[in-house]
Amino acid sequence: MKFSDFGLNENTLKAVAEVGYDEPTPIQQKAIPEILKRNDVIGIAQTGTGKTAAFTLPMIDILANGRAKALMPRTLILSPTRELAIQIAECFQKYGKYQKLSMALLIGGESMIEQQKVLSRGVDVLIATPGRMIDLCERGRILLRDVRIFVLDEADRMLDMGFIPDVEKIAAKLPVMRQTLLFSATMLPEIKALAQKFMKFPIEVRVDPPMSAADTVEQFIVKTNERGKREVLRRLIRSENVQNAMVFCNRKKDVDILFKSFTKHQFSVAALHGDMAQGQRTETLNAFRDGHVQLLVCSDVAARGLDLPDVSHVFNFDVPVNSEDYIHRIGRTGRAGRTGRAFMLITSADFKALAAIERMIGQKIEEMERFSIEMDPPSEPKNKRRRKAKKVSHTAVPVSQQTAERVKETAAETVQKHAHRRRHRKSKNAKTPQKAAETFSVMDHSSVFGRAMPAFMMNEVKLS
Ligand code: AMP
Repeated sequence: MKFSDFGLNENTLKAVAEVGYDEPTPIQQKAIPEILKRNDVIGIAQTGTGKTAAFTLPMIDILANGRAKALMPRTLILSPTRELAIQIAECFQKYGKYQKLSMALLIGGESMIEQQKVLSRGVDVLIATPGRMIDLCERGRILLRDVRIFVLDEADRMLDMGFIPDVEKIAAKLPVMRQTLLFSATMLPEIKALAQKFMKFPIEVRVDPPMSAADTVEQFIVKTNERGKREVLRRLIRSENVQNAMVFCNRKKDVDILFKSFTKHQFSVAALHGDMAQGQRTETLNAFRDGHVQLLVCSDVAARGLDLPDVSHVFNFDVPVNSEDYIHRIGRTGRAGRTGRAFMLITSADFKALAAIERMIGQKIEEMERFSIEMDPPSEPKNKRRRKAKKVSHTAVPVSQQTAERVKETAAETVQKHAHRRRHRKSKNAKTPQKAAETFSVMDHSSVFGRAMPAFMMNEVKLS
């Protein structure tokens, strides 16, 4: 199949040819004709399948006719992250270069005034993250009643990030007569419910993930303790032939700490997380893409949906809380038929999460033993510990006469031992030998049962 088979206009075909695509990907083959027929479409496809072009190309074609009015965008695309929104905008620029299209990006971290200025001139394509969009809608700075195509990209990520209520609020402002396109990597029940609410007789198109990570990524775990994590990781990176790698942490705070630590140890490294200013993020991404830095330390949210280069290695500094994130993380390597390597550091607190991941990928992950170090002893959950302690102090166990005697004797011995240690310490600290002798005699007079008697000895021991 060729792009010209879709009946796309000449300008779009020329732009596609310049980008160098020979043939449409499976999601493009299935989705483009349905979108051009103006059907509502649910696309089940992951990043990397060419799904962005699957909706941008037919949209550009549809938008060729008509003009936008001030403050009234003709299409709206909601994206869960700023980076993904930027990538979508880049696609519109690339494929729409021979067509006059106006476009606005409404994302956090960019100047609101600039964005409003563009909107007031009228836009064909508005790409936004839900938060910024709600903000502007609530200020009455934008009217959505002219939106003819509404796209919800990476709906499953929206769900993960808690954006669905915002999406619902925005959708309520859209006209009923519109085309809705929804893209998601998985079809969770919540996404199905959302589709039922927003869409009219949607056509579902689905493509399998290009190849399962298990086929193209060699995966390993390395056991470590909390304190040794950074050193183990450094040794691992030095021993591997790392061309470029992503290092994933669960928390922003750890992204910062790890970045500083790598810098101190003279690695070529950059960091990416949600708190960074937009300009800084874009700069970092470009530096990594262009090969100016070798390691990119990041959090899941920061890395989501990014069109990053194929990396030779993925290092999971932390075990992801969500097993699905593991698949996303390691999917950054082993792309385009090449093999990649993925490592994950495991502490004694991570076994449960590791088991969940292994269940999900349907295989056990091999341990790279030569890098493993001794783990911390497994710690009991705090509330369990507290409950146990309470139990001991509250139980009055019925015991036999003999046991009661033995308990008393043992306790007395323990108390004596403690008393003796105290005496010894005091005499050692005494300034003169005479004082030391006195200490001993005074301590000898103190009643063993009168002083440090343990609580349970004071209670009556119940006899059976
Ligand atoms: P996406 O799934 O939209 O994130 O796209 C993943 C990558 O595939 C991007 O780098 C696109 O430039 C590329 N791509 C999209 N469509 C095609 C195509 N028909 N042929 C080759 N590459 C493509």
